[in-house]
Amino acid sequence: MNNQMPENDSGSEPPLVNLCSYCRPLVDDLEGYLKIFDTGETYIRLRDPPKDFISSSREGCNLCQAFVLGLLYNRSNHSQQLLNKLYKNGSSSEFGYYNCLRKQQMDGFEDTFYAQREMYDGDQSVYSEVWFFRRKSTSVVALEVSTASQSSLSFATELLERCRSSHPKCQSPDALITPTRLIELYEGGCRLRTDVVVGTPYTTLSHCWGSIDILKLRKDNINELHDFPLSKLSKTFQDAVFLSRSLGFKYIWIDSVCIIQDNVDDWRRESAKMSQVYGNSSLNIAATYAKDGSIGLFVDRDPSSMKNQCIITPEKKIFEFAASGGYERCIADAPLSSRAWTFQERYLARRTLHFSGEQIFWECREITACEALPDGIPNSMIRYQDQFPSTANPAEWCQVVPNGVLLFKGGEVDSSHR
Ligand SMILES: [Zn+2]
Ligand SMILES: [Zn+2]
Repeated sequence: MNNQMPENDSGSEPPLVNLCSYCRPLVDDLEGYLKIFDTGETYIRLRDPPKDFISSSREGCNLCQAFVLGLLYNRSNHSQQLLNKLYKNGSSSEFGYYNCLRKQQMDGFEDTFYAQREMYDGDQSVYSEVWFFRRKSTSVVALEVSTASQSSLSFATELLERCRSSHPKCQSPDALITPTRLIELYEGGCRLRTDVVVGTPYTTLSHCWGSIDILKLRKDNINELHDFPLSKLSKTFQDAVFLSRSLGFKYIWIDSVCIIQDNVDDWRRESAKMSQVYGNSSLNIAATYAKDGSIGLFVDRDPSSMKNQCIITPEKKIFEFAASGGYERCIADAPLSSRAWTFQERYLARRTLHFSGEQIFWECREITACEALPDGIPNSMIRYQDQFPSTANPAEWCQVVPNGVLLFKGGEVDSSHR
């Protein structure tokens, strides 16, 4: 991986963030708060935040923007009404506040804590968290404009190697099996095989079938699929083939091509083996963002929006900060997660590589990581990993502006400070 982290105490300084008159003193006093944490305290009550941090975020405070972003992923039922009211008012000035810092140790990070802004109205409350951390390791992937770029593929390759070589919980199951059918991949084409040796590594694909026509194995085309060109495959299937080959795999299992779709007996027999097929897969490729086969795995993105923002304390300590909710936005709320079937596939597989609408995420039995945090996303930052997504649609709430910041709709976006 390329080492492009902002350096501590020397060298090039990270880009400065814009802070409002409430958030600036928080950063200026941070070293003092850290000393309190050093005495064993884990909680510090702060003075009230600006009465309208929605306005602060519109006016360009990057920290208030992170709090707004964090709010969108607070999904307890009793908070929904309050969020709706906030959305309707376009202002937070009439709510009460409770504001604090909490220490939370996280593996792989130093000086980790989060700031919480809790907003209440009568007996309803909603809170938002922004995490601050310093990494022990300075390795980050240099993010490029496409998730099909070399840097994204390197992220996938390195995580796969690390997981295979040093994650005890992610090793092969004791009972190795090979699916009844596998698609063999060769330069320019594919072959449907039924004679692959047990234990041969293969990938699987989790995807939304959608409403477009995708290649399906049927009683009348079995012979045709003994050898067929890549062009027969949908965009998502072609991308999964490209990725599998790039990562060194020669076989892939795709449900629509490896189970005879118009043969009830075959379908029953093969779908009963799902847990083994996914459990034995060396890597599950999830077309998380694709609502159907025409979308593919890869997306173009603004790499600057993927980077965590940084604050510098008066003593020149650099902290990155991020709102919780990135995982929820990219995975839990994505089209693939709305299907119970594919949700199950993720849990059967030892390792899943998610192709989201922003970046690639890695999920295995030991870590969850993404391109922006390749050494792992702290568990406490992920709230909804084990739940089905809510029906809330954050896209109705907000818009993404440069630097990946989401603002409430209706607010003027002023990016002149960036
Ligand atoms: Zn602020
Ligand atoms: Zn692993």
